[in-house]
Amino acid sequence: MLVMKFGGTSVGSGERMLHIARIVQDVRSGWLPAGHQGPVQPDRPIIVVVSAMSGVTDALLNAARRAATGRPGACDVAETLREQHYQAIETVALPEEQAVLRAEIEQLIQEFRNLCMAISILGESTPRGLDAAASLGERLAVRLTAAALRKTGIPATAVEATRLIVTDDRFTDASPLMDETEQRVREHLIPLVKAGQTPVVTGFIGATREGWTTTLGRGGSDFSAAILGYCLNADEVWIWTDVDGVMTADPRVVPTAHTIPEISYAEVAELAYFGAKVIHPKTIRPAMEKNIPIRILNTFNPGGPNTRIVAQPDRNQGGVKGITSIKGLSLIMVEGRGMLGIPGIAARVFSTVAAEGISVLMISQSSSEQSICFVIRREESARALQMLERAFAYEMAARNVDRIWALDDVAVLAIVGAQMRETPGIAARVFGALGRAGINVLSIAQGSSEHNLSLVVAEPEADEAVQAIHREFFGG
Ligand code: ADP
Ligand code: ASP
Ligand code: MG
Repeated sequence: MLVMKFGGTSVGSGERMLHIARIVQDVRSGWLPAGHQGPVQPDRPIIVVVSAMSGVTDALLNAARRAATGRPGACDVAETLREQHYQAIETVALPEEQAVLRAEIEQLIQEFRNLCMAISILGESTPRGLDAAASLGERLAVRLTAAALRKTGIPATAVEATRLIVTDDRFTDASPLMDETEQRVREHLIPLVKAGQTPVVTGFIGATREGWTTTLGRGGSDFSAAILGYCLNADEVWIWTDVDGVMTADPRVVPTAHTIPEISYAEVAELAYFGAKVIHPKTIRPAMEKNIPIRILNTFNPGGPNTRIVAQPDRNQGGVKGITSIKGLSLIMVEGRGMLGIPGIAARVFSTVAAEGISVLMISQSSSEQSICFVIRREESARALQMLERAFAYEMAARNVDRIWALDDVAVLAIVGAQMRETPGIAARVFGALGRAGINVLSIAQGSSEHNLSLVVAEPEADEAVQAIHREFFGG
């Protein structure tokens, strides 16, 4: 079994959908990507997973949020979405299928309108409501993609993952309940495959046990593909996107970045966690647990370079594999000369922010114990400060803690590679490169994983910092 996931730009128009249908057809006829090794089971069944057409999830969520403010016209985007999907139908669907397909799209658009109206009447958009709205993008896209496959001569059926992926009820960031999901996936998909059908499954979405639609977090279609791969014991998961695999840096920031041919689960997890959007960080775990290789390929350049993600790459040379950055962050600092004497202060700092549901991306403590600093998302900074000031009111009054403050608009850079700790001089080269570029480093942490050196810089300097470090290790 092979699971193939296609992202938003890869299904961004009717033509793009027909293009991926041809890719599926080629793979069915034995086409293999560059660098593929070993035998492949002939006629192995394919499960297709698709995202919403590019821009659609954003449009749906923006409309739902605006509807909550009661602003007029928030739901007008329904017209644009209908138009966009109707137009694609003309390209992707056989003439005899077009009327039925239009009716199905119409029904989903109407569902969105009703939802939008309900949100504007209530005057609030709950996470549950947002998930119901966001899920429509994938529900629209699977129907069109399945039609495109059929037009290309592949028997295909659209499947909504609300029937397959059972999740907890953390709306907008739900986690799958794997045992139940595995049972459902096998129950629904195996008979389809046995009947010669190629299932085209919605990425991104699932449902609670009670049947409420959930989403797995933004960019979560990659995770959906890995979940299905896990449940079906797939021999590979291929993630088709709009770049040539995982690259040494985001090619939008570093135009000379190049494809990393092979990388370990551990390394790619660090890159993904620290901002390499090309693969959602949650994708790694299900694949790793069953040792399923993931391959990242480009629908715009199918025969080109691609990345294979495995437990132990054959050609793992130490050193730096890639450089990433995450923007929109704040550095929070708790400082005080008297902190040295207070036991458990770090524990109290972190339990205070954890109690607020704020996640910490990076921590560093100076050896003098006179300050603790950590990085969180910018939008959570004011709330974190307020909570910390409340929690340490006594220590502040006693002058053991002098100052709790935030440096907003910072970015974390991560320099990732296996055995970096054993490769001498990497940190020196990183700081040398940044020094020559005149970029000030605000904080440093060596990740406990030994795969990662992270540092904080001012957000406006982040791209330049990534470029300077990339030049140092990869030239160009
Ligand atoms: P999809 O819609 O196919 O899921 P995404 O937009 O989520 O695609 O992810 C692909 C994008 O990830 C690329 O266009 C690229 O700009 C960005 N990206 C960030 N870091 C990297 C990296 N290290 N390697 C490749 N792409 C990266
Ligand atoms: N369509 C969803 C999003 O935009 C999921 C995905 O693209 O992976 O977040
Ligand atoms: Mg993505």
